[in-house]
Amino acid sequence: MSSSHLPSVALSARVVSFETARHLVEQHALSVAPTEVETVNLLAALGRVLAEGIVADRDFPPFARATRDGYAVRAADVAKTPARLDVIGEIKAGDLPDNLTVDHGQAVSIMTGAALPPGADAVVMVEHTIVAERSHPSVGKDATSGWGNQCVEVQRSVSAGENFVPRGAEARAGELLLDRGRRLDHAGIAIAASVGQSRVQVFRKPRVAILSTGDEIVEIDATPGPAQIRNSNSYSLAAQVQAAGGEAVRLAIAPDEPRRLRALIEEGLQCDLLLLTGGVSMGKYDLVEQALAELQAEFYFTGAEIQPGRPVVFGSCGAGAPARVPAAKSPPASNGVSAPNKRYFFGLPGNPVSTMVTFELFVKPMMDALAGMTPQPLIFLRARLKSEIRTKTGLKRFLPAVVSGEFENAEVELARWQGSGDIAALARANCYVVIPPDRVRIEAEEWVSLLLR
Ligand code: AMP
Ligand code: MG
Repeated sequence: MSSSHLPSVALSARVVSFETARHLVEQHALSVAPTEVETVNLLAALGRVLAEGIVADRDFPPFARATRDGYAVRAADVAKTPARLDVIGEIKAGDLPDNLTVDHGQAVSIMTGAALPPGADAVVMVEHTIVAERSHPSVGKDATSGWGNQCVEVQRSVSAGENFVPRGAEARAGELLLDRGRRLDHAGIAIAASVGQSRVQVFRKPRVAILSTGDEIVEIDATPGPAQIRNSNSYSLAAQVQAAGGEAVRLAIAPDEPRRLRALIEEGLQCDLLLLTGGVSMGKYDLVEQALAELQAEFYFTGAEIQPGRPVVFGSCGAGAPARVPAAKSPPASNGVSAPNKRYFFGLPGNPVSTMVTFELFVKPMMDALAGMTPQPLIFLRARLKSEIRTKTGLKRFLPAVVSGEFENAEVELARWQGSGDIAALARANCYVVIPPDRVRIEAEEWVSLLLR
């Protein structure tokens, strides 16, 4: 069956710069947000987005905490050095120093993480002291505690407040430590753990439909015919979706046939986001845009001035299941971004490298938003180019490359590749070198931007 069996819809191309395309996605991402939440065990929340703020359950630190092993002292007593102080006791981490007060001329041996005793206002590092015997052992309390005849010589003075963190200096009880909408990494996990949250409330993962198209594409466990290609895009995209905090829903392969393609698109629009691969170029059987147009899709761009990935498409359909975003929570419909039942889709080029690059460049912000967080900016690093690059103007290029070099001396070199189909080259690369659209030649030793992958 050919596409002529369905009425054709006029398509107007809208090819935009990389920056415009990215901004368009970010702008539309503002209109989506998850509403469903679940409570999971703390470690299962790694990489998930918080649906609740994490609040300090007590002061942090909960007591004035020594940050060095040494002696708790009164700073005024050691203003002149060397200074001799009587050692009246010892405080280990975990001890309550209630029964010890540091008076004029006294010191208490203290360990990192222990509570500063009353009276003391600084800690002298043990490295700056010498233990000494007292010539006239004292009597009474000190003697019975076993510290009666110990003395310490302090060789360096300290200022009041040195080598301890006052109670509540990091956070006060009730203070917000982590905002709702934060993705939990190991530091976030540490914060939740430190306030005793063994379970946390997170947003439900967005469900992302993945639809590969093409008559030549076969499932990976089938034996491909001589002109057939295994459906690797469905897997690379599923991996990227999972890494971005989503749940991948891999649909059946769509042939280059309008009715079946359209049915599968409709199935995909039941999810929170639809990613299509293939069928967005200018070929006779590139039917994806046509099929979407027939579903009353709105297209925000139908190409970006980039390489690889130029034919990338971004739009939305009004169809699908009822939206999870309540109308009250959405921005006004007048901005053209939000509407109930709206489902966003990306048509990614089928070339495997293009598919992977365009996901990172354009799909990520939408994934962030659907997962419950503010879209994160792309972070570009700089490195010196190892050898000259010659290219053509007109497109911003994201070329697979290898960054290497020890410590701060990063240098980068293009990976040798055969074009956008070369997954092996991409797998050897660890970044993309970014070439501005107005350059034909970049000399060795020049600083270039790169995007880690
Ligand atoms: P298309 O974008 O449909 O013109 O496809 C461009 C190139 O990518 C062709 O060589 C396709 O065979 C290849 N390709 C398309 N879809 C996939 C897929 N799902 N997995 C691997 N390669 C694909
Ligand atoms: Mg195709």
